[in-house]
Amino acid sequence: IRRNPAEPNFHQAVHEVVESVMPLVYDSKKYRDASILERMTEPDRIITFRVTWMDDAGNVRANRAWRVQFNNSIGPYKGGLRFHKDVDLDTLKFLGFEQTFKNSLTGLPMGGAKGGSNFNPKGKTDAEVMRFCHAMMTELQRHIGEDTDVPAGDIGVGGRELGYLFGQYKRLNNRFAGVLTGKGLSFGGSVGRKEATGHGAVYFLREILQHRGEGLEGKSAIISGSGNVALYAIEKLEELGCKALTASDSSGFIFDPDGISGEKLEFLKDLKEVRRGRIHEYADKFGCEFHPGKRPWAVKADYALPCATQNEVDEADAKVMVANGLHVLIEGANMPTTADGVTTLQQGGVIFGPAKAANAGGVAVSGLEQSQNALRIAWSHEVVDTRLKGIMAGIHQKCLRHSLEVHGTIDYIKGANIAGFVKVADAMVAYGAI
Ligand code: NDP
Repeated sequence: IRRNPAEPNFHQAVHEVVESVMPLVYDSKKYRDASILERMTEPDRIITFRVTWMDDAGNVRANRAWRVQFNNSIGPYKGGLRFHKDVDLDTLKFLGFEQTFKNSLTGLPMGGAKGGSNFNPKGKTDAEVMRFCHAMMTELQRHIGEDTDVPAGDIGVGGRELGYLFGQYKRLNNRFAGVLTGKGLSFGGSVGRKEATGHGAVYFLREILQHRGEGLEGKSAIISGSGNVALYAIEKLEELGCKALTASDSSGFIFDPDGISGEKLEFLKDLKEVRRGRIHEYADKFGCEFHPGKRPWAVKADYALPCATQNEVDEADAKVMVANGLHVLIEGANMPTTADGVTTLQQGGVIFGPAKAANAGGVAVSGLEQSQNALRIAWSHEVVDTRLKGIMAGIHQKCLRHSLEVHGTIDYIKGANIAGFVKVADAMVAYGAI
């Protein structure tokens, strides 16, 4: 706490990993001798910079931006950029730390990083977003590269922003290289990247269920968010026969007891991805309930997929979920459940699929985008989807094996932390004291 003051999210993320890996570290002379935990909890480097841009009224505006290059032991730094008014160093350190283990879990050669800015995209015009992205890349470009650090999207950074960022990188460097992922399909993007996090989270849920001899057909799920992750989690749930009952944004949630599917899902995609409207418009159009200022966790369902933001499921929410007989919670967002919330859910018998494992599909397909860029080829949807399914199944297997080996029980949180940790730790030990 003295070394990282006022960073509660970072402490929460570190605490969870250390709790899982401690038995392994105690038992291992090589990890103890290497001071592995002290090293892994310190980012390699943090870059902080000012982004100056001009709004439509001609006012000069200034924001703060960061790139936290956390760990590149097993591959170039990799992790998204977030644009949100609340972005601060604490948030980006927790996300970069988590990303290191998540990327390791995918089995692909990717290190961990995260970046972003306290720029608030809400209410900004396209031209303002473009000027901000160009200004941000003017500084960021000197710190990234296809073999150095490869950023991607996250909250507030989607296809539009990545296009502006990539265009400015290309202009300043006069080179067309895979320095960002999540790019548009006409300029180096991968098919299936947009859908990958949401689809991957549902594939992970399906793996958990299959391992227990269960299936998704005829079941129901509550989902928060209506952004990139939520929309495609809903799409895959519906495709696999599970009703998606809710969606939300920062203004509240909608509850559609018939399920968000077909024409209704297309409306929601257009509303959120194209028109950037508010979620109540779905309720207005289809005559279902809108609950302003609320989260959807009190709606009864078999599964819950929080896909909006960190700490959006707290202890009180978890108690309601347990009382409602929730079966599985899958973290689509990063750290959406508070530490007390996790304890309550696990003690209440809810199976818990942690973000590191469950939402790794997005970065996995980003890794596939990097491979396609390096080879200068484009794989088909079938190839990418088959690889994504294989990667999610592999992550599930790793979680099971490591959790059983170290703790003797099936606990996906512990399994994911240990599996992600071992690969990075072994590389760091091999490099010696650097
Ligand atoms: P988007 O910006 O596309 O969507 C975010 C959604 O969450 C929006 O509906 C937004 O509502 C809502 N939201 C954001 N902040 C808050 C808040 N403080 N309170 C309530 N609702 C909020 O982001 P993504 O879908 O890309 O990301 C969602 C989560 O998934 C994040 O935790 C991200 O780190 C994680 N993730 C994303 C990956 C990806 O590939 N995109 C990969 C792995 C993890 P509103 O529009 O009103 O702000």
